[in-house]
Amino acid sequence: MKQLQENLRAIPAIDQLLTQAAQSEFLARLPHPFLVSILRQVTTTVRVELQSGQTPDVSPTALIASAVRLAKETTQPSLRRVVNATGVVLHTNLGRAPLSPRALALVTEVAAHYSTLEYNLETGQRGTRYDHVVAKLSKLSGAEDSLVVNNNAAAVLLTLSAIAKGREIIVSRGQLVEIGGSFRIPDVIQQSGAIMIEVGTTNKTHLSDYAQAISPNTAAILKVHTSNYRILGFTAQPEDADLVDLAHRHGIPIIEDLGSGTLTPIQYGDLQEPTVKQRLEAGVDLVTFSCDKLLGAGQAGVVAGRKQWLTGMKKHPLLRALRIDKLSLAALEGTLLDYLLGDPCLDIPVQRMLTVTQGLAGTANVLAEKLQSLEFFGWKVIAQPVDSQAGGGSLPGVTLPSWGVSITAPTKSAAQLEKFLRLGLTPIITRIVQNCIIIDVRCLLAGDQEIICNAFFAIEKGAIQ
Ligand SMILES: *Cc1c(COP(=O)(O)O)cnc(C)c1O
Repeated sequence: MKQLQENLRAIPAIDQLLTQAAQSEFLARLPHPFLVSILRQVTTTVRVELQSGQTPDVSPTALIASAVRLAKETTQPSLRRVVNATGVVLHTNLGRAPLSPRALALVTEVAAHYSTLEYNLETGQRGTRYDHVVAKLSKLSGAEDSLVVNNNAAAVLLTLSAIAKGREIIVSRGQLVEIGGSFRIPDVIQQSGAIMIEVGTTNKTHLSDYAQAISPNTAAILKVHTSNYRILGFTAQPEDADLVDLAHRHGIPIIEDLGSGTLTPIQYGDLQEPTVKQRLEAGVDLVTFSCDKLLGAGQAGVVAGRKQWLTGMKKHPLLRALRIDKLSLAALEGTLLDYLLGDPCLDIPVQRMLTVTQGLAGTANVLAEKLQSLEFFGWKVIAQPVDSQAGGGSLPGVTLPSWGVSITAPTKSAAQLEKFLRLGLTPIITRIVQNCIIIDVRCLLAGDQEIICNAFFAIEKGAIQ
């Protein structure tokens, strides 16, 4: 007991630590109240450790070192740039789509200044944020009208709430989709206040299943794009034209959650992501889709289609809670301008990454050459073909033939290397295949190669422990 009292008294006072902190270049620059709170946190930690029977080093030098570590941890942005070396183009955990230069320029302009967010320059009166992208989306998809909200989940929720609350919505059992992050169609329908009427079976749903389910209380038929899985083999869904005819004969709309909703046709083998335009032309009344998947903008969701249904949605009380913010809106408008004015496959990063066929081998060889001097130290660096994926709930089951650099170190396992790269100054996210680190070059952006080379050379020099 007496020993504990003595040990506790040995913890330096905050004033003493402040004097010591003045000698540290890093700590001396911190605002006084922040520095004091860091030092308090450090001394409290060792006090608690002593009381629980541990024997921490309570010397001023040790405490100052802890303070530097803690202050760095606390002030490091948590949301940081990473290098995506996984080859997964739409990696939801890594922020989905990086923005195009044009989108980025508009975001910067709007973020740093006042803007026309809800101001009509013609009249000098209040305008609405939802008008900015309507004409552009119409040009690109043929939609009569559209409404942009926070994300696609919000677009689906708003659409169902506005059209089907308290009434029935018919959906095929083959399309009761779950997307990562707890978006499940049955749960969203329930949240909207609509009553879900399931029809058909997992593999087959016929026109007659839909027809028999229609009642005076039916508000709509919901179709859901199976964006992250495929049902193959003995399967059936009714022809679009027949389903549209059925719905319209009963005066109800067809709503389709497209998920990734691309504006340009993207095809791999027999798998094609339907474009927004194709689905509207097929007679679907309203489609909903994400803006940060195949479209390549920031987080947002769109409901596009017939004005008749959208007019009411634009006055719905939920809209305020689901509204898009100005930075996402700027990212979307800038990206739509790329589709209208540029070449999406060159200008929009995710479109470029998904469609690139030429040049990946060349890029992998260039990167391998830059890393070649590691071979003097016993490393193995080999440019080779690899497989990448679209990700983000698009093109399920499709592997994109890609190129990468496979790397092994003489004294570290692939798992150790993966961790070093992930915990580096600019984290590099990689895959391990057969005990090798794979740097897939498909998703590398400007500046990434240099970061990768610096990281590997630092690991070799032992600068990263
Ligand atoms: C991705 C996806 C969603 C969710 O979209 P967010 O923009 O992430 O909210 C909903 N439905 C389908 C079919 C999807 O693929």
